[in-house]
Amino acid sequence: IKKIGVLTSGGDAPGMNAAIRAIVRTCSYHNVECIGIFRGFQGLIDADFEVLGPRDVNYIINKGGTILKTARCVAFRTEEGRKVAYDNLKKAGVDALIVIGGDGSFTGAMVLSKEFDIPIMGIPGTIDNDIHGTSHTIGFDTALNTVVDAVDKIRDTASSHKRLFFVEVMGRDAGHIALNAGIGAGAEEILIPEENMGMERLLESLKKSKKSGKSSSIVIVAEGEKLGKNVFELGEYVETNLPEYEVRVSVLGHMQRGGAPSCFDRVLASRLSVKAVETLLEGGSNYMVGLINDQVALTPLEQAVKGHSPVDQELLRVSDIITI
Ligand code: ATP
Repeated sequence: IKKIGVLTSGGDAPGMNAAIRAIVRTCSYHNVECIGIFRGFQGLIDADFEVLGPRDVNYIINKGGTILKTARCVAFRTEEGRKVAYDNLKKAGVDALIVIGGDGSFTGAMVLSKEFDIPIMGIPGTIDNDIHGTSHTIGFDTALNTVVDAVDKIRDTASSHKRLFFVEVMGRDAGHIALNAGIGAGAEEILIPEENMGMERLLESLKKSKKSGKSSSIVIVAEGEKLGKNVFELGEYVETNLPEYEVRVSVLGHMQRGGAPSCFDRVLASRLSVKAVETLLEGGSNYMVGLINDQVALTPLEQAVKGHSPVDQELLRVSDIITI
């Protein structure tokens, strides 16, 4: 392998730049050329390439987002689109590809690899932490810190006014952010798509917490929560049924994706990236590099994309016990 291409795809996540930097420098260390591909798979189709050397990635380890930009690309879902992508890679002499993204991006990369026999590696970059084969995805830790910081601030105003706040966090299909940040921010209730607690139990629990002397309450709601209501309807329902509460709703939104990556995410991104390049150079392909029991580990991409990783049952128990 003489030239490795790297792209970021799907939703951006803090720490993607740290991964790009580490890939570029590992390539340089092993005398391999690194080609940056802009705007994900769209950049493959448009041949939006640039050679990246170690000095091109100075001062990016601390930056959120991705210098390579990212995109969702419809054309890559078609055979014709992928043929154009492959021809562009061939023309540029790129003989292996590293994709930093989520399960959708890995699926796209696997299809390309099968059709055209090009070696690929996946690095999990998404704030959702919903991928099999890694305890942490790049960006998750930073997003948790952002959420906890925001909820701490909401708590200040909630307790001053004795209010009940519903705070919506990201995670359409996965409750990892809600569960972890909820525990970290001391939320009274955490509503996640994986666990349907039901409206009645929620009302009961909030009643109990009022009786126990709590003057303010925070309920963290994953955006994919499936009590059949969005977070605003949820707030209204609770205010109607528990008039003793004054309810407010806050949707954290895209701020959860931004900001400087945490040290954990920078170190994680660096470790996974070195392994991704070196695996390709050793002849490996079609793996995702992840962290298992704090060790860098390879998981076949096919397994990594099989559904979303489940939430940790132990965390659910901890949350149940300490929200009393
Ligand atoms: P996130 O978890 O942040 O949403 P993701 O990688 O899962 O990230 P997707 O939008 O699902 O994000 O996928 C990114 C891109 O991967 C798509 O826009 C598309 O170009 C490509 N892709 C996804 N699934 C396929 C597929 N089955 N075949 C070909 N390409 C695909």
